[in-house]
Amino acid sequence: MATNTEMNAARRFAFPAFAVLMLVLPALPVPDFWITQSNYIGLYSLVALGLVLLTGVAGLTSFGQAAFVGVGAYSAAFLAVKMAASPWLALLVGVALAIGAALLLGAITLRMSGHYLPLATIAWGLALNYTMANMEWLGKYDGILGIPTLKVFGMDLGTGRGLHVLIWLFALLAAAASMHLLDSRPGRAIRSLKNGATMAEAMGISTFRAKLTVFVIAATFAAVSGWLFAFFQRTVNPSPFSIGKGIEYLFMAVLGGVGHVWGAFLGAGVVKIVEDQLQVLLPKLIGTSGNFETIVFGIVLVVVLKYAPDGLWTFVANRLPRADRVRDWEGAPPLAAREKPQHGELLLDVDKVRKEFGGLVAVNDVSFNLRAGEIVGLIGPNGAGKSTTFNLVTGVLSLTAGHVRYRGDDITGLPSRKIAGRGISRTFQHVKMIPEMTVLENVALGGYLRGECGVVRAVLRLDRDEERRLFAEAERQLARIGMADRMHELAGNLALGPQRLMEIARALCSDPALLLLDEPAAGLRHKEKQALGDVLRQLKGEGMSLLLVEHDMDFVMGLTDRIVVMEFGIKLMEGTPAAVQASPEVRAAYLGTEH
Ligand code: ADP
Ligand code: MG
Repeated sequence: MATNTEMNAARRFAFPAFAVLMLVLPALPVPDFWITQSNYIGLYSLVALGLVLLTGVAGLTSFGQAAFVGVGAYSAAFLAVKMAASPWLALLVGVALAIGAALLLGAITLRMSGHYLPLATIAWGLALNYTMANMEWLGKYDGILGIPTLKVFGMDLGTGRGLHVLIWLFALLAAAASMHLLDSRPGRAIRSLKNGATMAEAMGISTFRAKLTVFVIAATFAAVSGWLFAFFQRTVNPSPFSIGKGIEYLFMAVLGGVGHVWGAFLGAGVVKIVEDQLQVLLPKLIGTSGNFETIVFGIVLVVVLKYAPDGLWTFVANRLPRADRVRDWEGAPPLAAREKPQHGELLLDVDKVRKEFGGLVAVNDVSFNLRAGEIVGLIGPNGAGKSTTFNLVTGVLSLTAGHVRYRGDDITGLPSRKIAGRGISRTFQHVKMIPEMTVLENVALGGYLRGECGVVRAVLRLDRDEERRLFAEAERQLARIGMADRMHELAGNLALGPQRLMEIARALCSDPALLLLDEPAAGLRHKEKQALGDVLRQLKGEGMSLLLVEHDMDFVMGLTDRIVVMEFGIKLMEGTPAAVQASPEVRAAYLGTEH
């Protein structure tokens, strides 16, 4: 069994070794044919890498990546041939145009949920292809011919071995940038997108911004690939940038492994090599010529999606031992902390909040408040309106009427990420987390608003100091709830009890002044409930204020200072645990739905 350090070392050297191999490949006695294949694979990998981030990591689908490749390629061709401009200027123009198009498409579709982005990318792909094929100045179907070869520092790269170095340099840089990004504050935001917006927004993440960011990155990679493609082919025409090619790029990403950077390279390699074989083999088998490989790819795609939904790379990844994150944050200076409310200060003032779902009044003019240092329980039978009230306070649902005030400020109607920013943090009735991230990373997500590093700093690894501070904080919060020893486990592998505790640590990581917990004891075993109770008492002892939504009466009795009881959307009563317990109405409400 290899030790953790050995595994980390092996992983650290795998990428540089691969990079060096690809960069010196042209100097080795490799036949020209394979250099050309490798050039294609590098170009395709760049595009597929964007799709790994967009589709695999963020869960957004684009069929239009080939069109972004086209923007890069046509910019290069047009500027080089018609304007005799520098190729580097063409790269800038191509990337700028692709980013502009991505921003426009994204701004229109990414605020809407569902299938608007894929549809818009299809429309964009078709429109761009139509433009290329019909514009006189873009050469219509013939395209633009006679693109010069690329010269770097007076050195002619040609279209073979020389260009191979540049293509792979870009592909490898993009891979390194992607890996840096995924392991960073903005990267964790992007990784949180696939599991729905509610949790991410509750951590203070603008999911719209995160989606737009990853869409722009994918478009940039595609445009760079197109720019290189133009100097590789020395001619451009519309066909390599069609929707069909867009689907093929998506196929490469899905086949290789949509969730992993190296899946893009594997997928691009397999598709390119198999496609060439099939183009020779299939016509022989069938007897006529045609694009039969498309049909084979279609079948393979269905099979892959069914039997290996995470792609071929998982077969490689499963054989590699998983290395724990290097614990490099010892002694990192603590993150800035929020100024905390005075004990007894009016913290939360819920004033006649109301929520109607069509004809159903789920929350009927409910008022209560909470002072700093208190634990208030919100209880009631199932369907009483507790979670809805909770979601009105945290900004997940809009109010039909009423007001929510926090530390004297009206926060009614603010989006949940703004409310999070003010120091209200929450957990969810049904645990919401990123199962494929470690416990530590999930908790670090809670500290999102306490960092500020963006994509550029993340890609250049200028975010390491902030990352160390964030991870030190995440570990500290895990230690606070007694889970520091499980920080390297994948969150998805935890049992429900530890998952709930992890959510509390994640909420604490945002340095809240008020913690809202929605049924934290639901589904826990007796021992786990006791452990949770201890954690909450300890938090109160440290001065934390808590609003606890709970179905389980016994659990809240020994824990809360005050209890608000709801039934059918209305506030039935409010009082000390003893008063609530003694109340015949409360007993009737519970007896009515239970036993
Ligand atoms: P609790 O958390 O107390 O069990 P909820 O707040 O989840 O109750 O639900 C209160 C009532 O509102 C229930 O009757 C529920 O069916 C209804 N409800 C909750 N969310 C929605 C929604 N998004 N659309 C329609 N009805 C809803
Ligand atoms: Mg509920």
